[in-house]
Amino acid sequence: MNAAYIEAYRSGRLEQSLARASRWMSKCTLCPRMCRVDRMAGETGFCKTGKLAVVASFGPHYGEERPLVGRGGSGAVFFSFCNLSCQFCQNYDISHGGEGSPVGPEQLAEIMLALQKMGCHNINLVTPTHVIQPILQALLFAVAKGLRVPLVYNCGGYERVAALKLLEGIVDIYMPDFKFWDTETARELCGAPDYPSRAREALREMHRQVGELVCDESGVARRGVLVRHLVMPNGLAGTAEIVGFIAARISTRTYVNIMDQYHPCGMAFFNEAINRRITRAEFNQALEAARKAGLTRLDNRPGRWIIDK
Ligand code: SF4
Repeated sequence: MNAAYIEAYRSGRLEQSLARASRWMSKCTLCPRMCRVDRMAGETGFCKTGKLAVVASFGPHYGEERPLVGRGGSGAVFFSFCNLSCQFCQNYDISHGGEGSPVGPEQLAEIMLALQKMGCHNINLVTPTHVIQPILQALLFAVAKGLRVPLVYNCGGYERVAALKLLEGIVDIYMPDFKFWDTETARELCGAPDYPSRAREALREMHRQVGELVCDESGVARRGVLVRHLVMPNGLAGTAEIVGFIAARISTRTYVNIMDQYHPCGMAFFNEAINRRITRAEFNQALEAARKAGLTRLDNRPGRWIIDK
């Protein structure tokens, strides 16, 4: 199975998507924040990113889900800044502080090619929503120079469906977070009360484009959706509702990673409700809710971060 963007490159669809993304970025509407700033001219909006992507780091990553890691690792590219910016972000210095260096499209293409050369099974674009245009531009160079491995869109779930449509036939694997179910929680923790509805719409669109996760004979992911859900203290994530939605409205065969690694970061130290790790009981409840909802493909890794009590 070839990576989807190869055909998109041949047919001209990749170039068309890039042209449209460039137009949108000159009055930026690439995400639900709809800042309408001219990023092509260097202006910045909520995500503090202008024309060029800022990259914090890149390299083979072995901590991702097994279907992404395989033997060669997942080729992660960590983009700086974020269109969601949660108070508790587990990469706070990168997403809020913007640690990293601006890279041009040819340089970003070279990063992708270097990861492929290192034996990574995929290019894992971490926090890509606000840099869709630079990614598409880099892909044009990278495909021409031989990029072949699947593209993973590893996002926070705060997406515009219209922008996701630019990626149809280009992204092979979508890996969105589904963080909160409740609008007030989303308003308080990331200033985005529309997050839950945007995440639901996004997940439907991603599933429509690429379907359930499909792996090759060695268990390495080639195409499909993989959802991540971080269990929060005090039931703040709305886990039961989220897994219920995925099972009922997407598919019980959706690959879901229920994650236990929440720990206070960034501004979470100043918010009593989220200023602790989760307990084993909270994590077990989350897993039970997922099983009860009927989900049959749960990522199965031992809990490392939970408090035993
Ligand atoms: S991508 Fe950035 S500038 Fe564009 S709408 Fe979203 S937050 Fe605003």
